[in-house]
Amino acid sequence: MNQELKQRFDAIRPLSGNTPLLEISYSFRGKARRLFAKAEYFNLTGSIKDRVALYILEKAYETGAISPGDTIAEATSGNTGISFSALGRYLGHPVKIYMPDWMSRERITLMESFGATVRLVSHEEGGFLGSISMTEEFAKQGGVFLPCQFSNEDNVEAHVITTGEEIVSQLASRGLKADGVVAGVGTGGTIMGIAKRLRQENPACRAFPLEPSNSPTLSTGYKVGQHRIYGISDEFIPDILKLSQMNEIVSVDDGDAICMARLLSETLGIGVGVSSGANFLGCVLAQEILGNDAVIVTVFADDNKKYLSTDYAKPQGCGENALTADIQLSGVSVIR
Ligand code: PMP
Repeated sequence: MNQELKQRFDAIRPLSGNTPLLEISYSFRGKARRLFAKAEYFNLTGSIKDRVALYILEKAYETGAISPGDTIAEATSGNTGISFSALGRYLGHPVKIYMPDWMSRERITLMESFGATVRLVSHEEGGFLGSISMTEEFAKQGGVFLPCQFSNEDNVEAHVITTGEEIVSQLASRGLKADGVVAGVGTGGTIMGIAKRLRQENPACRAFPLEPSNSPTLSTGYKVGQHRIYGISDEFIPDILKLSQMNEIVSVDDGDAICMARLLSETLGIGVGVSSGANFLGCVLAQEILGNDAVIVTVFADDNKKYLSTDYAKPQGCGENALTADIQLSGVSVIR
């Protein structure tokens, strides 16, 4: 990598990572508990994926997999595309994003505002899997870099060396080690990377990959049903997710996830996206397995602003058997 590019990476790096860890106190069916969540909306474009995009691009320059002027082409359900749009353009690359056409309008507008070209892919054209094939087809013309977030081990590594590392030192500042980590699976990079780093501190740390109960792809191996926890469960089991290294899969209803995300904003002023609501509920389930005092960590992958055109913004009941109905939030303390 030449000096000028190195300086460009150095200049933008402080805007990714080093996010606050939120300690949230709550009670579930009368039992007092706490959980820990990384506030990932503090990143450059407002999601955890800035960490991944930055690391993949840096690695690609180091290995020569990308050259100046190459077009970056990626299939994404949103946040990865937004991150590659911003960082790709910052580094002078054209960016082309392939995305299923049922994702929220805000995502498309954001990518376009960052200077990317967005190609929407319908169910008939193959949806998510169709988007991936289209990037591969597009790359045949040459001069194209494919980050391949679903199969690129640098996606996992980004979370080992940044997200996981930060969680370890933030918990250590309170004299704690994690007993478990919960994260909704899109590519699986978040859960795989954080679990790897946390297990270096506590080999017994358990990893709970989360899926929507309305669309349990991890448990079944294929796409079943539809769900509204945008950013996770994208129709298939990704290559980088090694279920053999994971513990119990936890599943959460999408309506319950929306209710939980809203409860966080309505009572604590923490405005998070739907997958964050799901991750909170996943922690509740993990504590049902490991005990009320278990130290469970998760991520709030993004904030609520990308969901204002979705069911998130419509007042609604939480559905039968909602966990959210049994949760009271009491307060938050921030670990920097
Ligand atoms: N939540 C949201 C909002 C996301 O955009 C993503 C990434 N698609 C995830 C969760 C899942 O993260 P990962 O890809 O690391 O499994």
